[in-house]
Amino acid sequence: MTLRVLSIASEAVPLIKTGGLADVAGALPDAVAPHGVAMTTILPGYPAVTKALGKAKAIHQWDSLLGEPARLLAGKLGSHPLLVVDSPNLFARDGGPYADLAGRDWGDNWRRFAAFGRAAADVAGGAVKGLGFDLAHAHDWQAAMAPAYMRFAPAGTAIPSVMTIHNMAFQGYYGADIFALLGLPSWAWAIDGVEYHGGVGFLKAGLESASAITTVSPTYAREIRDPAFGMGLEGLIATKGDRVHGIVNGIDPAVWNPETDQHLLQTYSWRSLARRAANKRALEREFHLEQGDGPLFVCVTRLTWQKGIDVLLEVIDHLVGLGGRLALLGAGDPAMEAGLHAAAARHPGRVALRIGYDEALSHRMQGGGDAILVPSRFEPCGLTQLYGLAYGCVPVVAHTGGLADTVVDANLAAINGQAATGVTFHGVTYPSFADAITRTIALYGQRDVWTQMQRTGMKTDFSWKRSGQAYAALYRQLAGAE
Ligand code: ADP
Repeated sequence: MTLRVLSIASEAVPLIKTGGLADVAGALPDAVAPHGVAMTTILPGYPAVTKALGKAKAIHQWDSLLGEPARLLAGKLGSHPLLVVDSPNLFARDGGPYADLAGRDWGDNWRRFAAFGRAAADVAGGAVKGLGFDLAHAHDWQAAMAPAYMRFAPAGTAIPSVMTIHNMAFQGYYGADIFALLGLPSWAWAIDGVEYHGGVGFLKAGLESASAITTVSPTYAREIRDPAFGMGLEGLIATKGDRVHGIVNGIDPAVWNPETDQHLLQTYSWRSLARRAANKRALEREFHLEQGDGPLFVCVTRLTWQKGIDVLLEVIDHLVGLGGRLALLGAGDPAMEAGLHAAAARHPGRVALRIGYDEALSHRMQGGGDAILVPSRFEPCGLTQLYGLAYGCVPVVAHTGGLADTVVDANLAAINGQAATGVTFHGVTYPSFADAITRTIALYGQRDVWTQMQRTGMKTDFSWKRSGQAYAALYRQLAGAE
């Protein structure tokens, strides 16, 4: 039996993207299709989305979606059905999905995404004639009001729902004064409803209302029961017990594959690793680094506390002292940028950086660097280490979240068993990170071991195939379908 799933997301590639959520929402329909799941995606009608739709058919309309008129447009996301909530007063604005052109969050985000959740809940509940669903799947706080509206609908919505957390750091928390404007029954204001620390918590409401919760790695699913990672929701997560699942994201082999990557000077596979050398030389030239046989570390990252860049700044002298070089691509915190510029000035020819966002360069760095540094304090899933594995750019990662689930540390047993794919370290502190760098450089000197690590990583399957199967199995279990 085909299972009909409504995927509720505030972004999805190729239409609109600010982060990893867009990759997941864009890839899911294809990933679950082989497992008997027909997925329809529903998105807010930002200008980029309605423009891509062109002259789309309106299949439903609301006189008042939290006070605004809205239409439901039907189109396509790749080869899959797409629904778009077209409400110009809410979504047709210049700027990003959540912020204006100056980067300031829209002041009425609560209303924009409550309305989106309300619309999605109506669709999930069968408001549109001829459109039925067996399950709804909401992503992050922007979609989290959908399960809540489903649960608190006058007659209730019979179908089950899944709530996925891509990053617990973003929760959609607003003052109590908005509650009266949400159009929910008064009994929704409860500890196990939308109330959260005296205000309204969107993600909290979704987590309390959904039939199951998923996050993007098994380790992160465990970590968020702990105050250090749960960001206030650890108690709730702990009470949900085995209804919390961890499913690692996949990567798109059409985009990230060293055998076909058009961004690389030289393509290669695990059988032809020697061909990477030309990419390394080109990367050294591009970054004006000294040429050499020593290890070339790379780092592609947002410059934030989450990503441990402050500790990376501390270990740079150690890395250079041991004969390493570093090329970094990133943007973010100005103080971190300044620290990186200072490190590059201290170590000309050995440390170099590019400030900004450059997709093509990020491919060249994975295809030419020897090792990629990912010292995140928390990492729900992480993509850069997966690209590193696929490209033979050995990941050196903090043992947390998806990093812990996807990188096998090169301890003696793993090396002997040919299972090692990288270096992991516990705790994002100077001593542990510096020790990991020391170990990495020593491993790099053992050519056979290093090559084996590259090959094992490159041969591991991190495509969407596995994740698609896991999501489909969960949907089936919740929908009670065989
Ligand atoms: P997060 O979503 O927390 O930033 P992930 O590792 O899950 O971390 O995903 C980051 C994605 O953004 C990866 O695809 C990475 O290559 C890309 N990325 C991050 N910073 C840059 C940059 N400065 N230039 C190009 N790509 C970047």
